[in-house]
Amino acid sequence: MLDKTPNGKISSVLNSLDEALCSGEVKRAVDLFQEDCYWRDLVTFTWNIKTMEGKEQVRDMLEARLADTKPSNWKIAAGEDASEAEGITESWIEFETEVARGFGHMRLREGRIWTLLTTMSELKGHEEPVGFDRPMGAKHGSERNRKTWKEEREAETAELGYARQPYCVIIGGGQGGIALGARLRQLNVPTIIVEKNEKPGDSWRNRYKSLCLHDPVWYDHLPYLPFPRNWPVFSPKDKIGDWLEMYTKVMELNYWGSSECKKASYDDKTREWTVVVQRGGKQIVLKPKQLVLATGMSAKPNLPKIEGMDVFKGDQHHSSQHPGPDKYKDKKAVVIGSNNSAHDICAALWEAGADITMVQRSTTHIVKSDSLMGLGLASLYSEQAVQSGMTAANADLIFASLPYKILHEFQIPVYNAIRERDAEFYRRLEKAGFLLDYGDDDSGLFMKYLRRGSGYYIDVGASELVADGSIKLKSGVDIKKLTEHSVVLSDGTELPADLVVYATGYGSMNGWAADLISREVADKVGKVWGLGSNTTKDPGPWEGEQRNMWKPTQQEALWFHGGNLHQSRHYSQFLSLQLKARMEGIRTPVYGLQKVHHLG
Ligand SMILES: Cc1cc2nc3c(=O)[nH]c(=O)nc-3n(C[C@H](O)[C@H](O)[C@H](O)COP(=O)(O)OP(=O)(O)OC[C@H]3O[C@@H](n4cnc5c(N)ncnc54)[C@H](O)[C@@H]3O)c2cc1C
Repeated sequence: MLDKTPNGKISSVLNSLDEALCSGEVKRAVDLFQEDCYWRDLVTFTWNIKTMEGKEQVRDMLEARLADTKPSNWKIAAGEDASEAEGITESWIEFETEVARGFGHMRLREGRIWTLLTTMSELKGHEEPVGFDRPMGAKHGSERNRKTWKEEREAETAELGYARQPYCVIIGGGQGGIALGARLRQLNVPTIIVEKNEKPGDSWRNRYKSLCLHDPVWYDHLPYLPFPRNWPVFSPKDKIGDWLEMYTKVMELNYWGSSECKKASYDDKTREWTVVVQRGGKQIVLKPKQLVLATGMSAKPNLPKIEGMDVFKGDQHHSSQHPGPDKYKDKKAVVIGSNNSAHDICAALWEAGADITMVQRSTTHIVKSDSLMGLGLASLYSEQAVQSGMTAANADLIFASLPYKILHEFQIPVYNAIRERDAEFYRRLEKAGFLLDYGDDDSGLFMKYLRRGSGYYIDVGASELVADGSIKLKSGVDIKKLTEHSVVLSDGTELPADLVVYATGYGSMNGWAADLISREVADKVGKVWGLGSNTTKDPGPWEGEQRNMWKPTQQEALWFHGGNLHQSRHYSQFLSLQLKARMEGIRTPVYGLQKVHHLG
């Protein structure tokens, strides 16, 4: 008899998929999918991060990759049950390939696969040493001249990069480099993280004084070591800095602080990088096989060139260099920009007693933090989610299971609800002259982040100051020039100024490749970030995944890693497995290496 329970439905499809794939029958496998299906693969079949959209793309991928991948053992994940709601049956699933174990998620609609997520959990024979396999730590018994753990660590630190070359070098030791470094450490991939700041956490510490994380704690955990249950909802920047410093130490990362990468080049013949690092007054040349740029999406300041910058007598700096408000009491400040940093800096200056004007050139998406937490994040990343059994890992995978092509469809209703709930707030902001948007297609903050990484403020209070005029606003204008003591706007307004802050955002990570490697390599790799959604600042064609992030690029052995804490945590797993596989000589034929449509 046909089993019509959710478990029965999922198991039946998984059994059929298993049979079809094991016997190499691509057509039979593809017939199990809906017409408008999505298969998102994180490394298991494609050695890439890739979404197949529609049956044809699923077929093409299977024809290219099935024989090599040899998938088997598809089943509902151990300890899990399928569930059903609104005509969709879904379940956590597990499977194997010839070289790896996989975990994933499946949604069925009308008995066929609508969305399938396949992710690599571990490489067979190269599992992380956890649980029963954890290291002993102590060496029981007796041994002459034995080394302690501390002596062994010191020896490793002294040797790696000098007497012995690392397999991988990560440039940039912010949270991205640190999270990836931790994963690689567990996989026994010799790695050095090169960071120009003195200490881990400094990239947060060095930011403006008032900064607290904009995302809540449930979204921000690092791999392996979640924040304790008493950790504040919004980490102050210096506290997250301390956490990163502690994490780097206890995770035993080879972290070179006060070390700046000056140059890197790749030799196609030896398939090796030459990485020139300035460390402690000396130049050191590293020769890794893999190079990861974790230099930060929000780390390359966009500083506009404005007539009169050279004659202005007051202070002027990019938001990333803003020291905080203390010395600006009773001063006149002009902040150029209207996104997160601009709002945070304006609010702190207002609190310190400065006379402050925000200059807004174009529309900005504003969402109140409470509303974002309540309506946008609560089901996956909140205390309620934790209480109902949701882990950060499962939340990440559920999020990953929603294909980018249709993600906006899930987001639009959320932001419509937020607009309704906060209608009065938005009305007051508009009345003050603030130019609002909700994303090109009303899909709100997260889509803006994925598409262009900018264009929003998560309101933690500054918007009220804009609405009530405490922060003065000039909107729909640009800066024309600076004079010795003022900022002149495109509508002719002249604002007297002692301080000008350029909260004008950050450049593409591709720029780091140009600076450190070459313009030629940067162009070969192309634009980093964005989905190709053909919305503002995210030109088409559609890519289906974020450009160049966490996956192979057009430059052999060059990788980009970063994003927010959630992305660093989640995608470091897949990047670390790609690197480990290469180190172990496992074949990694990349399916669907992205084409380059835009230069950096
Ligand atoms: C104001 C602001 C608020 C943010 N709030 C949040 C938030 O609430 N939640 C969230 O998840 N994300 C947030 N982000 C986004 C993102 O998480 C942070 O930008 C985060 O710091 C990114 O981490 P990262 O490791 O990718 O880059 P970074 O922290 O920028 O680290 C890059 C590192 O590379 C180093 N570096 C660069 N070039 C070299 C070189 N040549 N040699 C050696 N080292 C080099 C830099 O010194 C830097 O330490 C925020 C960003 C900003 C700007």
